[in-house]
Amino acid sequence: MAALNEFSLIKTYFNQAAPEGYLGVGDDCAVFAVRPGYQLAVSTDTLIEGRHFFSDTDPFQLGHKALAVNLSDLAAMGAQPKGCVLALAVPAIDDAWLQSFSAGFYALANQAQCPLIGGDTTRSSTDIMFTVTVFGEVPITQALRRDLARVDDDIWLTGTLGAPDLALQYLAGQMPLDADRLSASRPLLEKPQPPFAFAPHLLGHAHAGIDISDGLLQDLSHILQASHCGAQLQWSQLPVHSSLLGLEQQQQLQSVLAGGDVFQLCFTAPKSERSYLLELAALHSVQLTRIGTITQATGLEVLDAQQHPLPLPAHLGFDHFTL
Ligand code: ADP
Ligand code: MG
Repeated sequence: MAALNEFSLIKTYFNQAAPEGYLGVGDDCAVFAVRPGYQLAVSTDTLIEGRHFFSDTDPFQLGHKALAVNLSDLAAMGAQPKGCVLALAVPAIDDAWLQSFSAGFYALANQAQCPLIGGDTTRSSTDIMFTVTVFGEVPITQALRRDLARVDDDIWLTGTLGAPDLALQYLAGQMPLDADRLSASRPLLEKPQPPFAFAPHLLGHAHAGIDISDGLLQDLSHILQASHCGAQLQWSQLPVHSSLLGLEQQQQLQSVLAGGDVFQLCFTAPKSERSYLLELAALHSVQLTRIGTITQATGLEVLDAQQHPLPLPAHLGFDHFTL
């Protein structure tokens, strides 16, 4: 194949046709309509080589993750995906890498009906970087926000906890390698599956929502602060990923309560919604667990089987500027 330049690179790897009604890749802007009665929900996330992913990460999974972390933010608002743009900076044109990255990206974009409708391609000096911006649609004033939790709401969680943090610790050499635990936990770090099809059906049923990409306790705290309330969680009810079973409690507490990279949803809803939510989750094959209750007293407690508060990890979650 002849050496690619910027324009042939875009044509080769990022040029899947947009659906009917969209003006996609190929002009100065992408153009699409939002249905009457809906608002646009917009979010953006950047991933940087060496900071958010290891240089040798499988590019197909990286393409998937680039979009998945953004779909997680749409899900957290109950917004339905409408489209996305990708700003990509690479130090050189590596065809095998681009082929695989774009295939991973498109596979999820097609699954989520979130077409790639534009972007930007530039050269970086050393590291790969990409920023994805997603656009979603949400009925006017219905978005799931952080400030709408109410006292006595149930607290719900999709998916499982702890596996991405465990995998990260093995891959970073912070824990002696256990090959079985690594192979069980690694897919959750590298190929997150946010509940993007499930989440829009929470509108009108759930009160507050957030994705817990920076750790359950830290992200749930954002809901509690915004909603001026507290929470009690039951340790025995938390959906600990099977790769953590049998590890020391200290390790489990850290990975489950504070571990990042969990592109899943934590939301609150009145008790009257329990059967609706469980049926909805079953319909979408989403693992859904009731993990606690919103309280009037501020503060966040995790209770053991005897209803005593457990000691919480020193760092409640991930922060780029303190770690
Ligand atoms: P401009 O210079 O007008 O910003 P570009 O030459 O950068 O346009 O891009 C040409 C077209 O390709 C535009 O429609 C842009 O949105 C699209 N594009 C560029 N890079 C990407 C990418 N990485 N993924 C998807 N679309 C892209
Ligand atoms: Mg451009």
